[in-house]
Amino acid sequence: MIDDLVVRQADVFRNKMGIEVLTDHRAEGIDRVGRVVTGKGPQGVFAIPYDHLLVATGATPIMPRQPGWDRPGVMVLKSLDDGRRIKAFLASRPVRSVVIVGMGYIGMEMAEALRAQDIAVAMVKPRPALLPWLASELVETVSATLEKAGVAIHTGFDVAQIVDDGDRLQVMAAAGASLTADMVLVAVGVRPNSDLAAAAGLALGPDRSIAIDAQTRTSDPAIRAAGDCADAFHAVTGQRTWIPLALRANRTGWAAADDVCGKPVTLPAVVGSAVFKVFELGVARTGLTAKEAADAGFEPATVTIHTASRAHAHPGASRIQVHLVGDKGSGRLLGAQMVGREGVAHRINTAAAALHAQMTVEQFSQMDMAYAPPYGPAWDPLLVAANQLIKTL
Ligand SMILES: Cc1cc2nc3c(=O)[nH]c(=O)nc-3n(C[C@H](O)[C@H](O)[C@H](O)COP(=O)(O)OP(=O)(O)OC[C@H]3O[C@@H](n4cnc5c(N)ncnc54)[C@H](O)[C@@H]3O)c2cc1C
Repeated sequence: MIDDLVVRQADVFRNKMGIEVLTDHRAEGIDRVGRVVTGKGPQGVFAIPYDHLLVATGATPIMPRQPGWDRPGVMVLKSLDDGRRIKAFLASRPVRSVVIVGMGYIGMEMAEALRAQDIAVAMVKPRPALLPWLASELVETVSATLEKAGVAIHTGFDVAQIVDDGDRLQVMAAAGASLTADMVLVAVGVRPNSDLAAAAGLALGPDRSIAIDAQTRTSDPAIRAAGDCADAFHAVTGQRTWIPLALRANRTGWAAADDVCGKPVTLPAVVGSAVFKVFELGVARTGLTAKEAADAGFEPATVTIHTASRAHAHPGASRIQVHLVGDKGSGRLLGAQMVGREGVAHRINTAAAALHAQMTVEQFSQMDMAYAPPYGPAWDPLLVAANQLIKTL
């Protein structure tokens, strides 16, 4: 049941915590001088005065504007209501094939969910690389896994329009190719929901996210921002960045509350740790890619290794791939990526901890990591990769 995904219903806030929760109310303006938020709700317009204001408006899925993107059957997945709409659509008619526009983690997770219902899936995107941030050898593994699971991958497919022929949807590429589908899922990324903040004159950060400091304060100290709409500092580059993910969203919410209540708070920087599952594979990253490192002024060196996920004689071992990025100038570890059937999701956190500690690759290679045959080789795959990278550095 989709409702089981709701962690806390609005009534819990109202009845147990004494918080006035106004659902179906849309904030439309911030009067910073009068300190009032205005908007519209079921009873008409509202105006709510504030001493402190928190903007936590999240992110919005990007929806292309070419002809046909508003057809019934063209869906996005951002909210639970979107999930309900997709489920209702799939239940309302025979859906034999779906085109997924975009090849990010939401598109891939949906590809798996749709294949589990025996629905044919084609994924399309205009650019040539399946996951542009992932090292090429690791991309090959993801690509092979998708193809083995029956997902057709069409890179270089720039959707120009979607035509409803009365029965099915035709997804047409600028170059002339076309795919037929009963449903189209658009998963081409999100942008921060910062229009309200921008209209109020608050300073913006990367990708038009709301710029905040380590106390979650915006350029107006009476207004804080938290979650996907807000930016962050990157622990590796020291620069502002925008990486919309759940832990950071939660953490900034807590920090904003602490700051309003007078508890000293200093938000940590982020390293962009992320993981997702696609069929039997785990795909994980933390820190910078080689390109991001070069763009940030580092002199990146990389290594990609593959090794067994368990001690060599242990049954059930599978292949695990590790890609590390280091800086030739300082010797620092800058980033890590991993792909494998097991041991990826939590292992990436070791590299994340090293990035927070600003370790060199040499220091990282000396970390005391746990070993037992069912969980990995005596030399953990991360250590094997670090030892290789030291040679390049
Ligand atoms: C399908 C999917 C899978 C995901 N999986 C992962 C994962 O595995 N790991 C991970 O780290 N992250 C994941 N994420 C991202 C994660 O869900 C977000 O980082 C997180 O939910 C952000 O929380 P938030 O409170 O900032 O924003 P949201 O949860 O988007 O909440 C923002 C709220 O503000 C409301 N709002 C916006 N504008 C206004 C306005 N003007 N007036 C009133 N209300 C407004 C919105 O209606 C919404 O309720 C996933 C996201 C999706 C869509």
